[in-house]
Amino acid sequence: MAKLIKEEEGKGRLHIDSPMMGESLVSKEFLKTTEACEYFRMHPDINVLKIGGQSIMDRGAKAILPIVDELIQLKDEYKLLIMTGGGTRARHVYNIGVDLGMPTGVLSKLGDKVSWQNAEMLSVLLAKHGGVKIGHGDNLEQLTMFCRQGYLPITYGIPPYGFFEHPAEFGSIPPHRTDCGAFLLAENIGARSLIYLKDETGLYEKDPKKAGKKAELQFFNRISVDELMALDLDDLIIERPILKMLKQAKCLKELQIIDALNRPELIRQALEGKQVGTVIHK
Ligand code: ADP
Ligand code: MG
Repeated sequence: MAKLIKEEEGKGRLHIDSPMMGESLVSKEFLKTTEACEYFRMHPDINVLKIGGQSIMDRGAKAILPIVDELIQLKDEYKLLIMTGGGTRARHVYNIGVDLGMPTGVLSKLGDKVSWQNAEMLSVLLAKHGGVKIGHGDNLEQLTMFCRQGYLPITYGIPPYGFFEHPAEFGSIPPHRTDCGAFLLAENIGARSLIYLKDETGLYEKDPKKAGKKAELQFFNRISVDELMALDLDDLIIERPILKMLKQAKCLKELQIIDALNRPELIRQALEGKQVGTVIHK
């Protein structure tokens, strides 16, 4: 831990002599002094599973129910937090917003309802097994408690940027969507693992749906974030800002992307720590 609290001993009174008093909190040299060797992890046993919107939820019962069955089996063995993606409905509203020249913050507000709808559907499906939809407020401190009590907490993946969303590097689609939300929450609660449930085996050199012959594409089992950034691929299976976030992460060391659509049994294997998709690591 960084030692930033100084107390004057033996005087009975706490003198607050904060090294941050005269700082702008911008100086790089100063900020380095706040780096801890190890960060406090609030929910070190929780595994964050992000269920894709387009890749899973939009495909309806045949895609969702086998995954729900798997989660019911797993919830008593592992502490899980389910986070939901948006998908096609979010894309449709972005499309209308882009057509109208809406700024990124407005698009962010328009799209966030869809991931909420998906969380609602999953919580209904899982209700009789302890599924409970939670928001992004105080319940997040209670995740471990929920899991210990046999609940399966579910929340929407979209991070609460809204009108505060960052300008996108290209165009106007909000750059921080549900993959980013899952990453940020997993990082900040000090989660055990972060697993993305999608519809492809993992990361290829190109989008296999557009490139055609999948067998001829290079597949990445395990790749460091630096290597991946250097490749500067045109398209990725997770949202691009995650790369920079992972590089700077304090708790998360890696994330895994698996094909839970075609192989729901991989969720268990990923939770066991096996590499069954693409692992992107620091
Ligand atoms: P989700 O609904 O889980 O957010 P998305 O549809 O947004 O999923 O993203 C997953 C999709 O990303 C895959 O189905 C795949 O078609 C596409 N994709 C784009 N680039 C790549 C890549 N380099 N490797 C693998 N998949 C990619
Ligand atoms: Mg997506």
